[in-house]
Amino acid sequence: MIHEIIPRLDNSFHNFSPADCDEVFCFEPGKLLVCDDTARPFPEYAALGGNFPAQYLFSIGERRFFLAKGEITVPEGFAFREIRSIRHAEGALQENVFAMFTGLHLWKWYSSNRFCGRCSGEMFPDDKERALRCTCGNIVYPRIDPAVIVGVISGERILLTRYAAGRGVGYNALVAGYTEIGETLEETVRREVMEEVGLEVTNIRYFASQPWGFSGGILVGFYCDAADTQIDLDTSELSSAVWTAREDIQLQPDGLSLTNEMMKRFKEGKIC
Ligand SMILES: [Zn+2]
Repeated sequence: MIHEIIPRLDNSFHNFSPADCDEVFCFEPGKLLVCDDTARPFPEYAALGGNFPAQYLFSIGERRFFLAKGEITVPEGFAFREIRSIRHAEGALQENVFAMFTGLHLWKWYSSNRFCGRCSGEMFPDDKERALRCTCGNIVYPRIDPAVIVGVISGERILLTRYAAGRGVGYNALVAGYTEIGETLEETVRREVMEEVGLEVTNIRYFASQPWGFSGGILVGFYCDAADTQIDLDTSELSSAVWTAREDIQLQPDGLSLTNEMMKRFKEGKIC
């Protein structure tokens, strides 16, 4: 899965200043500045002109990643590319895709919290932890939206879904949805399955979780058993939901997502 990279991403907070060889994320809405070198696709601080403010984000091994906060010069060989297309680019990109998604998550948070929601004053970064502060006392921590991924099982079959047209996802998925305020994760599972396919479920069991910076969330995977098999499809969310035997499961085009891992485990007979 996307987050299972070695060496692990070190997200501990530091107030580092950028060095010339540090890598820098330069985002525009939906786009990121990259080159086609899949081993080191992000520009270095010096190559962007240096002398601009940059926020330290995290490290992977010896590599340190920053977020550009000022004017940069686009270096030779680099261009702003659609983040969706980078996700599916070929090559040894898995480690870089996780860094990119996590950088995207932090960029959205920093750029959406420039001013205080309480008094409209300017927010400034805390010295000791990943937080933004205002002189009025308001503190804002990174927003992480929890969502569940649900493998609904009936005997030797699992319920595979397709999103409704226009959601930009053209391959198999599982029932999924965001947790609402006042709800446990298990309640989210029951509600989402009922809303999307009209089924009661039992025996809800946790599988794994996955940070998913692309949507700014944490995905929490559960399997459960369907009490019935009669589907009542919510067509505003899904175009199909099909009970699928293990051998007939078609996996996603890359091995990045928790959803894909859950379908794969079931297909391999490791989940029953
Ligand atoms: Zn304030």
